[in-house]
Amino acid sequence: MSETKKLLVLPGDGIGPEVMREVAKVVQWLQAARGLKLDIAEELVGGASLAKHGVPIRDEVIALAKEADAVLFGSVGDPAWAHVGFDRRPEVAILRLRSELELFANLRPAKVFDALIDASTLKPDVVRGLDIMIVRETVGGIYFGEPRGIETLPDGSRRGVNTEVYTTGEIERVARVAFDLARVRRNRVTSIEKCNVMESGLLWKEVVTDLRQRVYPDVELTHMLADNCAMQLVRNPLQFDVLVTGNLFGDLLSDLAAMLTGSLGMLPSATLGAEQADGKRHALYEPIHGSAPDIAGKGIANPLAQILSFAMLLRYSFDREADAVLIETAVSNVLASGLRTADIMSEGMARVGTSVMGDAVVKELGKLAG
Ligand code: NAD
Repeated sequence: MSETKKLLVLPGDGIGPEVMREVAKVVQWLQAARGLKLDIAEELVGGASLAKHGVPIRDEVIALAKEADAVLFGSVGDPAWAHVGFDRRPEVAILRLRSELELFANLRPAKVFDALIDASTLKPDVVRGLDIMIVRETVGGIYFGEPRGIETLPDGSRRGVNTEVYTTGEIERVARVAFDLARVRRNRVTSIEKCNVMESGLLWKEVVTDLRQRVYPDVELTHMLADNCAMQLVRNPLQFDVLVTGNLFGDLLSDLAAMLTGSLGMLPSATLGAEQADGKRHALYEPIHGSAPDIAGKGIANPLAQILSFAMLLRYSFDREADAVLIETAVSNVLASGLRTADIMSEGMARVGTSVMGDAVVKELGKLAG
């Protein structure tokens, strides 16, 4: 008998609640057909929480997130709150969750589904079969380093300062996530920095090399300069398996890699925290797209990134690899059958809305399991 897991669901704003409704259908199917046992709580975040509670996220919700085995997040952001200060914007909800749960490793898979190969701006031969994972450090580096700020110099001109800074501990914990992932994938890690011009990059390279020698001698490790990596990602992305890098380079390279697949509505992500004494890790799963206010309420959003985020949650937090594969296969088959939401529509395919796409995934799950 499988153990009951605590899931916190935070649909958020815009298309968040619309795509989350489709995940609920998948959850219900897994509960009925695959013995998934969940204790589910659902809470408001973002603009929805501001409207009801006056804050983007309540302390009670942060506490629930800390207690949960995993958090499934939709998206936050609502133009109605564009006038409020930065500290009260809907987006504060996700920033607070990331910092309070110390979610330091962002995992972004970039996977090309055969049926969507034409959605990429690259030639089909360059991206066919693409399946890479970018692991980005998210709570350190230049976005948080001190000193920082803008100062006025004696001559009246101004100077802006940010500092790239990494400690051995920060590098090692994110590198461990990358090596562990490689072991259950194709066993290759590419570590990315700019050790040719940055001391922090030099330390990054030394720490990753040392960790591999001590703990992961079975995993193949290569090092690559960040600028070369940007080039290689569009020249020959199939050479990569797991890439690990700091906050700034990861920000840029993960967006670049996402676009190899050509479709924002298809891309899931996970953010993981440190392993705690009881062996549990805080973890939050979300699509990489935002709340898409331009299409909210129209019933046309693509729910697949949210559904695939739930598949990642099953794999990494609930130890249910078979169910994750089942969902990913169902999504792939539904796409192969020709159904498309507006964002991934192409000639000769059948255009459907959010709800029909969700129903199709559930129906396909039934076929696969039956
Ligand atoms: P966005 O990802 O919301 O939308 C970009 C474009 O992609 C839009 O044209 C949108 O219609 C389309 N799109 C996105 N997801 C789609 C889907 N599932 N199906 C079909 N089309 C989809 O980015 P944006 O417009 O820059 O931001 C809108 C709001 O979302 C902002 O308030 C921003 O701060 C917020 N945001 C939140 C998160 C998050 O919650 N983690 C992430 C990114 C942006």
